[in-house]
Amino acid sequence: MRNAKVLRISVTDRCDLRCIYCMPETGVKLVRPADLLTYEEIETVARAAMEAGVRRFRITGGEPLVRRGLEALVQKLARLRPDDLALTTNGLHLAEAAEGLKAAGLRRVTVSLDTLRRERFETITRRTGFERIFAGLNAARRAGLGPIKVNTVVIRGVNDDEVEDFVRFAARERFEVRFIELMPTTGLGPECKELGSWRPALFIKGEEVRARIAAAFGPLELVAETEGVARVYQLADGARVGFITPISDPFCCGCERLRLGPDGRLKLCLFDRGGLDLKKVLRERRDGSGNLAALLRRALVEKERWERGSLAALSSDMFKTGG
Ligand code: SAM
Repeated sequence: MRNAKVLRISVTDRCDLRCIYCMPETGVKLVRPADLLTYEEIETVARAAMEAGVRRFRITGGEPLVRRGLEALVQKLARLRPDDLALTTNGLHLAEAAEGLKAAGLRRVTVSLDTLRRERFETITRRTGFERIFAGLNAARRAGLGPIKVNTVVIRGVNDDEVEDFVRFAARERFEVRFIELMPTTGLGPECKELGSWRPALFIKGEEVRARIAAAFGPLELVAETEGVARVYQLADGARVGFITPISDPFCCGCERLRLGPDGRLKLCLFDRGGLDLKKVLRERRDGSGNLAALLRRALVEKERWERGSLAALSSDMFKTGG
């Protein structure tokens, strides 16, 4: 099944940053602890997902490293022997966690970082901790959690003057930086005093970023399309840069992702408002993973029907489903 490859598992909707484009400053109504899937329940869903054709897992959040004992989940998922097992994190707790995660079976990390300047970091995230991200990246490298990717959301007038710096940083450190177009998520709106609502003036096309990089560093050669969403290019010096362009070039048709929310809702798309309540299936019907697998298979067929769905008119709770 073409679209059956990645299950993104959001283990919590909590986050210790409040990025101005992502989570409202006052936080969000959180899932009740009793409604969070346990690690055992996540493992059951993951096993069923593999039976239904999923081959890769990515752990995300909220901020996944704020959920206690994450290594235990990593270990359970690693035992299922997926083709890939990755983690997306803001990096704040990575310095302490990297070795344990590696030992538990994690393969690699992606770290979200929108600026290389401390003051700006504090403006964008509304929190401190800038240096800890770099300590986290170094610890991840030492632990062997590579290739390491850095995700950077580019916002006009906020951090777009750092595109070239990010390319140099990625080349020097041998990270792959991936520039992401700003999406109209729920963090953006009248209550967001820094940015307000999503509007074209804040938005920069991936193509414009790519042209700027080509002007500064020379031609880019397309080398890969990953998870059906990122286009990755190589520069003459070997540095790799990726572009994720959900607005200017929606990737619905190539999307290979299913998303499991912290409350057990399975979403076929980041912008899927409802989702399939797997917690109910797990807790009320007490179905074994066989029935879950059948349900997931049906969900994947449904996803194929959605392929031409439009993102533009919708908004998403990115802080919950993990991007
Ligand atoms: N806390 C983890 C992290 O920082 O990577 C995982 C969750 S975070 C919501 C996942 C990714 O979504 C981050 O790279 C973040 O920058 C991105 N994201 C959140 N809101 C976004 C938006 N409005 N447009 C584009 N990307 C966004």
